[in-house]
Amino acid sequence: MNENAVSDLRGHVRGGVVTPGDEGYDEARKVYNAMIDKRPAVIIRCADVADVITAVKAAGKENLPIAIRCGSHSVPGFGTADNAVVVDLSRMKGVRVDPPSRTVWAEGGCTWGDFNHATHAFGLATTGGIISTTGIAGLTLGGGIGYLTRGCGLSLDNLISADVVLADGSFVTASEKSHPDLFWALRGGGGNFGVVTSFQYKLQPVNDIVGGVMLFEVEDAPKVMRAYNEYITNAPRELGAFFAWQIAPPLPFIPENRHGDTFCAMVVCWAGAQDQAAKAIAPFRESAHVVAEYIGHMPYPGMNSLFDGLVPPGLQHYWKAVYVRDLTDGAIEAHMRFGPKVPVVNSTIHIYPINGAVHEVAAEATAFGHRDAKYATVVAGMWPDPKQNEANIRWVKDYYAALAPHSERGGYINFAASDEVDRVGANFGSNFDQLRKLKAKYDPNNRFRINQNIVPA
Ligand SMILES: Cc1cc2nc3c(=O)[nH]c(=O)nc-3n(C[C@H](O)[C@H](O)[C@H](O)COP(=O)(O)OP(=O)(O)OC[C@H]3O[C@@H](n4cnc5c(N)ncnc54)[C@H](O)[C@@H]3O)c2cc1C
Repeated sequence: MNENAVSDLRGHVRGGVVTPGDEGYDEARKVYNAMIDKRPAVIIRCADVADVITAVKAAGKENLPIAIRCGSHSVPGFGTADNAVVVDLSRMKGVRVDPPSRTVWAEGGCTWGDFNHATHAFGLATTGGIISTTGIAGLTLGGGIGYLTRGCGLSLDNLISADVVLADGSFVTASEKSHPDLFWALRGGGGNFGVVTSFQYKLQPVNDIVGGVMLFEVEDAPKVMRAYNEYITNAPRELGAFFAWQIAPPLPFIPENRHGDTFCAMVVCWAGAQDQAAKAIAPFRESAHVVAEYIGHMPYPGMNSLFDGLVPPGLQHYWKAVYVRDLTDGAIEAHMRFGPKVPVVNSTIHIYPINGAVHEVAAEATAFGHRDAKYATVVAGMWPDPKQNEANIRWVKDYYAALAPHSERGGYINFAASDEVDRVGANFGSNFDQLRKLKAKYDPNNRFRINQNIVPA
């Protein structure tokens, strides 16, 4: 970016402007996935909406792409790019809860930890991710899968409105009544349509929950998966649960002689009446011998940060994702070939249910294009040592290749890798053509292209 443009930015931006050569540039260009090493033209640490407008207009004037950053958790590193304008919202963390209407406004730089902290004070919550450091923005705009999905729907199903800075720098509020086509596209189209500076969500009464994890022997995994597949179809909506593979970390609830062993796991979160919890999770407990268990009563934000320690910033990440209609015998066999080979304690695979309330929303009601799937599966390679990149990426790719014949062609855009351009359309699913038309309307020059990109029609 030329010097005049940079000095113009410094004069107008209230937050911070960081360019190559500035002290702090190397820190500012870092994202959560340590494998990503990009050199943006400028990083604009926005303090408010005015800064976002300035940043977007500057990118237009300089004809540079925009990378938007909220929680920075994008696994392909979409929160940065070479020679791009990074619009970093991570300082915009205002949250305002309106208890009587059970709604909340949260700025576009909040993490789920920020969000849950604010709403829990009122005994309220909505569907968010399972890790507290993930950003609300990227997660919501791509879908939003978490412990409350089966009861409350995806995060995007709970969106009431969004304040958006569009590609030309104009500002609109999108809702069912105002710019409804944009509101539709935002709910599943990812960061393709503009910078969301504030989200308004509806909330549900969720206070303390009963949740945690149970570990089973690897050889019992087919029994556990079958029990999960059968029970989750019609389980009570207050139950969130997912199947996982996990190497045992050195935690006190796991027998010491089993630390470092590989297990399959059921993670559960019961948000219903406390006295019903044991009954709600019994089908998992009874599916096979439970080797170790840590399940208890805790505040919902406690559950939302239970696994944060397994995914600190600075790991290398490579993930792949598929949507799945059913856990067939073939799918279970594929899981048994690669799950027990999970290479390191941070890596895992999760099979998240996206049924219940998600299936009650019509396929064309939002841009989210996979409401006919029962599960979103992610093979999440996460490891500390860059020297192990090749082996870990190989495990993810081989696992994915084994699952693919038993899965839909598309995968959840928020879990997808960036090296699968040929799958982007399938990842967006049934609403892709309409998304491309709206992209042409709202971002014809594809200014917002550092994402699972929807090329304008
Ligand atoms: C450890 C970990 C746990 C996860 N757990 C879950 C989970 O439980 N459930 C789930 O559904 N997903 C989960 N994900 C995936 C997650 O949804 C995506 O990584 C998502 O993109 C993260 O959003 P972010 O704001 O943190 O990321 P960022 O890297 O900041 O942004 C990702 C992309 O989102 C878009 N974006 C970000 N902010 C804005 C904004 N304000 N306006 C417009 N577009 C914006 C941009 O296109 C950007 O490129 C997890 C990811 C990780 C790494």
